[in-house]
Amino acid sequence: GCQTGGGAMAASVKVAVRVRPFNSRETGKDSKCIIQMNGNTTTILNPKQPKENKSFNFDYSYWSHTTPEDSNFASQVQVYKDIGEEMLLHAFEGYNVCIFAYGQTGSGKSYTMMGKQDVKDQQGIIPLLCEDLFTKFNDTNIDNNMAYSVEVSYMEIYCERVRDLLNPKNKGHLRVREHPLMGPYVEDLSKLAVTSYNDIQDLMDSGNKARTVAATNMNESSSRSHAVFNIIFTQKRRDADTDNTSEKVSKISLVDLAGSERADSTGAKGTRLKEGANINKSLTTLGKVISALAEVDSGPNKNKKKKKVENHIPYRDSVLTWLLRENLGGNSRTAMVAALSPADINYDETLSTLRYADRAK
Ligand code: ADP
Repeated sequence: GCQTGGGAMAASVKVAVRVRPFNSRETGKDSKCIIQMNGNTTTILNPKQPKENKSFNFDYSYWSHTTPEDSNFASQVQVYKDIGEEMLLHAFEGYNVCIFAYGQTGSGKSYTMMGKQDVKDQQGIIPLLCEDLFTKFNDTNIDNNMAYSVEVSYMEIYCERVRDLLNPKNKGHLRVREHPLMGPYVEDLSKLAVTSYNDIQDLMDSGNKARTVAATNMNESSSRSHAVFNIIFTQKRRDADTDNTSEKVSKISLVDLAGSERADSTGAKGTRLKEGANINKSLTTLGKVISALAEVDSGPNKNKKKKKVENHIPYRDSVLTWLLRENLGGNSRTAMVAALSPADINYDETLSTLRYADRAK
């Protein structure tokens, strides 16, 4: 967790794009596929000017809507292994890590992060990572001098306000405060200790339900809010000779972002427009934070440049980036999955998602 100083520097942000299968609306409209993937390259074709292609390179380009034989096809487990497990291993090393899913509503963000909880082989990064966390504990538990503890919290950020998804009785929004040493935090947010994967699964389920219920009560859609699932885990090591103990705390933040579609494209008015502005503000700020970090991670004088740039990163401009500060900057590791629709009717949104992902590299 709180490693500082000039140790190992973060590699730039890992970026994956993932195209989902056609949905029935797109099939109904006889939509054409405008995404092509080949190795690490993703190409988008402009449906109005078929010769106008744009290509981007990412760490991973995941295909899902044809047969699994396609070489870019990636199952949920594959996505977990590439991205989730890498971040989990960094957490074991003591880094804070963050994985988030970006894209327009219906593009596959929650499928990637949460997946279908009750369908085998369809679970997403969050359940697979939680399961793997406990598997890895048991693998390494032969070491009697090592003790692990895990706590989780689950919150939703809607219109710059934080709701506790693990304590839905707490209907109001929670205050965001700053601890002089530990940094930004949410006051009174439930942090529940868990000792098994089943514990986490139950909490995830009730959190997800609370999210839907809250959204329905407020007559809003959960696609307008960010869902942040945090795992805080502590590794305590006892030195058998001296009996001294040392502790490593890592925070893993797994974020299903609000839909990235622009407010103006849906003819929003009043509350919707305000929602849209808030969402845009936090997604834009997140984009700025990540590109700034990606920039300092490359080139000479990384350490010096990093310090200088970090002072100017606009974390405070949105609640989301402010709360994720310790998971994005400093000694932390970040991965992003940009979710895409394959269909020509979503060309503008898909292109803007690809550009957003491109800036994060
Ligand atoms: P979002 O969270 O971005 O609004 P969802 O994750 O809910 O979108 O995805 C919309 C629909 O598409 C869901 O029914 C989901 O199961 C399906 N879907 C998304 N991505 C995939 C994928 N890679 N493979 C199969 N189905 C997917």
